[in-house]
Amino acid sequence: MHLDLKFPEHWDDIGSGQLQSAIARLGESLEQQVGQVAATEDEEELFSDLFDREYGFFWTIYSKVRAKNGRVTWADGGVRHFLRAPVQRILTLGLLSGDPSKYFISLRRYLESFVNNTMDVESFTLARALWESRAEGIKSAIGDSWLKKAPPELRPEIGRQYNEFVKFVDKYLKLRFSVIESGAEQSAFARDRIDLSLPGVHRPIGSHHLIRQVFQEIEDIFVSIGFSVVEGPEIETPYYNFEALNIPEFHPVRDDMDTFYLELPKGAKTPLLLRTHTSPMQIRTMEKQKPPVRVIVPGKVYRRDNPDATHSFAFHQIEGLAVDTDITFCDFTGTIEYFVRQFFGASVKTRFRPSYFPFTEPSIEFDVSCPFCGGTGNSNGGTCSKCKGAAWIELFGAGMVDPAVYGFVNYDAKKVSGFAFGIGIDRLAMLKYGIDDIQVFFQNDVRFLRQFP
Ligand SMILES: [Zn+2]
Repeated sequence: MHLDLKFPEHWDDIGSGQLQSAIARLGESLEQQVGQVAATEDEEELFSDLFDREYGFFWTIYSKVRAKNGRVTWADGGVRHFLRAPVQRILTLGLLSGDPSKYFISLRRYLESFVNNTMDVESFTLARALWESRAEGIKSAIGDSWLKKAPPELRPEIGRQYNEFVKFVDKYLKLRFSVIESGAEQSAFARDRIDLSLPGVHRPIGSHHLIRQVFQEIEDIFVSIGFSVVEGPEIETPYYNFEALNIPEFHPVRDDMDTFYLELPKGAKTPLLLRTHTSPMQIRTMEKQKPPVRVIVPGKVYRRDNPDATHSFAFHQIEGLAVDTDITFCDFTGTIEYFVRQFFGASVKTRFRPSYFPFTEPSIEFDVSCPFCGGTGNSNGGTCSKCKGAAWIELFGAGMVDPAVYGFVNYDAKKVSGFAFGIGIDRLAMLKYGIDDIQVFFQNDVRFLRQFP
């Protein structure tokens, strides 16, 4: 006899909350059908219909319920009903036959066909409950219906077979469990094994910001001619930012550098400000170090500017300072020209114009012939957009260190001389890479950042 069990129609629409009742209905239907099982040949077919690994009804439900994240556990009355239906029938047949002992073989076949197809700890737990659950497991059911109800003359034989049966099943379950355990270990091992042939996980590591790249490029050029790199605090005292650089209070140049002062607690000894240039490190370096001094100072500086395409309240500078006993204006221009040719290319020309800075004397503005139009002012038949037709581009200010500055750091102005320069990094990067808005440096837009890997 073959089972005629049907899955509920619209199984896919059944929510996980309705799974229990669906299984319970199937259990009832199964119970009715096994009521007709009457002989050993029928059992064989019944067990294979129910518990065959691939086609068995039970394992099909089992996997479908698990696929819906439902649970198939012994605690569920419907599941118990379902699994106990064949057992109940065998127990009944045993009782009816007058000698239940020959039906141990049926129970054994039933358990074997079930246990053999458990494939993980969860399904095995169900098999163990089916066997040894106190309330409704097979082990106690045999005691209740065969041992206790057997005629007195059969009882010793049934008892002996029962003990053997218990020993057999316990051993059988133990064996199956060790198979499942080692299978779990193996699959965990297979899962954890590193397959070197697979492509790796790609984690983009990012790149330096363009400003950082330009810093690096400039640092490399100066380091290669004997400068060293020092960094200093972004919060400064007016002394280092102004006075020691020969910019006394009320000096008009302070107006050009609108300054952020920090709000300090009452009674603070000295005001603090965000440095308006990297020049304070000239003073700090010379205070610490006797000549010769050759340093560059990269860093962030701050001025109270309204943001637009060429202004930002935070920007970047590299300060340069060289002081020694016999540094001349020629050393100064040679150094600057070397740097500019390294940075913009060997073909650019340079020129300087007189200028004024409080801490250098003489002071100059340093220009470079426009590297984009070859110093012609024309590009593609029109006016060069980089130099606006001027053929020259202002690069930065520089000069020979004003002897007055040496007085602040106890250098002998009669013995030493030197030069200083301050390069605006943002401006240089914008020029070199054709960027027309300084704000993109601070917006952290990856579409911009990715263009400079
Ligand atoms: Zn040009």
